[in-house]
Amino acid sequence: MDTVRVFCPATIANISCGFDVLGLCLDAVGDEMIIKKVDRPGVVITKITGQDLPLETEKNVAGVAALAMLNALKSDAGFEIEIHKGIKAGSGIGSSAASAAGAVFGINKLLNEPFTKAELVAFAAEGEKIASGVAHADNVAPALLGGFTLVRSCDPLDVIAIPVPDELMAVVIHPQIEVRTEDSRAVLKENIPLKKAIVQWGNVGALVAALYSNDYELLSRSLHDEIVEPHRSILIPGFDKLKKAALKAGALGCGISGSGPSIFALTKGETNAKEVASAMKNAYADFDIQHDIHISKINTKGTVVI
Ligand code: ADP
Repeated sequence: MDTVRVFCPATIANISCGFDVLGLCLDAVGDEMIIKKVDRPGVVITKITGQDLPLETEKNVAGVAALAMLNALKSDAGFEIEIHKGIKAGSGIGSSAASAAGAVFGINKLLNEPFTKAELVAFAAEGEKIASGVAHADNVAPALLGGFTLVRSCDPLDVIAIPVPDELMAVVIHPQIEVRTEDSRAVLKENIPLKKAIVQWGNVGALVAALYSNDYELLSRSLHDEIVEPHRSILIPGFDKLKKAALKAGALGCGISGSGPSIFALTKGETNAKEVASAMKNAYADFDIQHDIHISKINTKGTVVI
């Protein structure tokens, strides 16, 4: 085998209370990558469709992640990568993470799997450094492993895969506005009052317990963010209206996907997911902002060969 075609899923990071640690994998949205083993050593990105992104290996997360992996192997193998973007960059649903995950997953396959998927997370996270300045794993972990993941520690990397209740669905609305990364960082507070921190870790623990015990009511009670959402939501026009509409339509919870501007809701079952999506669409009708809506199962497989 010298060529592999890979599906690289979109992901939702943070999931309300789990800022920088929790993530989940979507299956209705993603990129495709074609990775080819070639004689010439190194990594060349030959083609990108769907988005205007850098082809230079060192400027593209796919290239940086691939090189991190090949360096660890001290390998002089060569690869050509094609990226077909289905995820819009800067949408808040792990666009760069999908490419980082796809690159290391595909190359690992072509090298007869020297690494497990869990081991690949660290290399994909290296790729994320050029998108956000830090090697964070909250999108690449669910993109690779599927399901829900919790990044207990980044250094050393310690990622826990969490089971997914069967009927859980996600609705994501992507308002096509630009939220500048510096703005979404600038609104975060350096210090957290102890009272708020207590509420937050109560919710994170309960959310994980809810996923293990298929307890949708507990999941719903835990999908709450004391710390980031009150500040970041100000940057997303219509956030409060959308959230109210989603909850009124029966969503288990609703919050900002990653650093936004996408907004996600979780639901029990597909029927409710459709109701929530239509309520969110109606609520957004007054805002003259183009938007995409995705309804998705939680993808428990992560990045796969197609
Ligand atoms: P999202 O908001 O969807 O999570 P990210 O913040 O992860 O998007 O990534 C967007 C940034 O990463 C952009 O600045 C983009 O230029 C850069 N980038 C580099 N390589 C890629 C790639 N292969 N796919 C998407 N974005 C990339």
